[in-house]
Amino acid sequence: MKEFSKIVASFKESIFATMSKKAAEYKAINLAQGFPDFDGPDWAKTFVTQAMQKGENQYPPFLGLQSLRSSISHYYEKYYNLKFNPDSDIIVTSGATEAIFISILALVNPGDEVIVFEPFYDSYLPSIELAGGIPIYITLKGPDFTFNQQELTSAFSSKTKLIMLNSPHNPTGKMFTKDELSFIGELAKKFDTYIIADEVYEFLTFENIKHIPIATLNNLKERTITISSAGKTFGFTGWKIGWVVASAKICKAIGALHQYNVFSVSTPMQSAIAKSLMQLDSYIPEFQKLYTKKRDLVFAGLNAMGFKPILPSGTYFILCPIEHLTKLDNVSFANYLIESVGVATIPTLSFYNNETEGKKYIRFCFAKTDEVLLEALKRLAKFSV
Ligand code: PMP
Ligand code: GLN
Repeated sequence: MKEFSKIVASFKESIFATMSKKAAEYKAINLAQGFPDFDGPDWAKTFVTQAMQKGENQYPPFLGLQSLRSSISHYYEKYYNLKFNPDSDIIVTSGATEAIFISILALVNPGDEVIVFEPFYDSYLPSIELAGGIPIYITLKGPDFTFNQQELTSAFSSKTKLIMLNSPHNPTGKMFTKDELSFIGELAKKFDTYIIADEVYEFLTFENIKHIPIATLNNLKERTITISSAGKTFGFTGWKIGWVVASAKICKAIGALHQYNVFSVSTPMQSAIAKSLMQLDSYIPEFQKLYTKKRDLVFAGLNAMGFKPILPSGTYFILCPIEHLTKLDNVSFANYLIESVGVATIPTLSFYNNETEGKKYIRFCFAKTDEVLLEALKRLAKFSV
């Protein structure tokens, strides 16, 4: 038999799948893969069954159900004063993962350079590689995970097609400041570069720190592709409803790919998210309160045990440096924690190109019931620093 595609043959199993499988094998508490172990709001589930009962069960328009595109347009205007035309500037996708993939494929030609901050979300690289793009890495260094302005400036050139931005940031919990975003934006304008803004954790923020979509700054909207996901906002990661918002011209290219790849995504789920987005005003304060409590619980617990966790401003992740805890690298340490302590985490190596930086941290996901979090902390306390 002839060989498979060379690029695909180089792809490894995602670290999330690997660690979840291993957690199940050792009956460890899974604080590794980022998903809640409890359901999102009941009313959102009711909206799904209502849609099914009403007969919303056939293909929706390939760009997304009209009602969902209207709700998306409505919330971007209401929360960020960003206007997106539901008929031309919005595409509903199978989660943010598909949105990232088709946005990169629509923009990048072989040989184009793509600037990627590391640590990066794991699907960015395979998507860039499939497009034939060349990743140029900028390392965000702890504990504040800011970038070196000179280094970033030097990374831009006439070959730069795109910069990948993720804020609030997985796995560090960092939220890029207005100054940082403006600096990135000015470079994007100077070098005529697109920006993919992965904002899936836009509402998962703490201490009233306001998320700033980069598209709201300094005429950046026309070159920005903003991506989000109902999986994060409503705690239903398995529904796989995400979206892209961008100019009509960009959406036309991305939509062409979506059409021949996925065509359209689940109708009743779209219908339910269309209605759920209209509940954001009352839902988000509760959502943020719930997750602030969980963050504080895990942060305080880890801190008391000497883990030196880094306080996240957004997302449901807490990063911990491990240098002071063990001589092991983070992959071996994460395996040790599963096998001997009964707690699964994510070693950050797969989020980095720079292995030295990549081996420094493990990531805890705190989107779990309080009972599960307390049991995990109890188990971790047995591990002596
Ligand atoms: N981007 C980031 C930063 C993520 O953390 C995730 C998933 N947790 C995604 C994209 C993918 O989102 P989805 O599950 O909607 O495909
Ligand atoms: N984004 C989730 C995380 O960071 C996992 C998503 C997945 O498993 N593909 O853990």
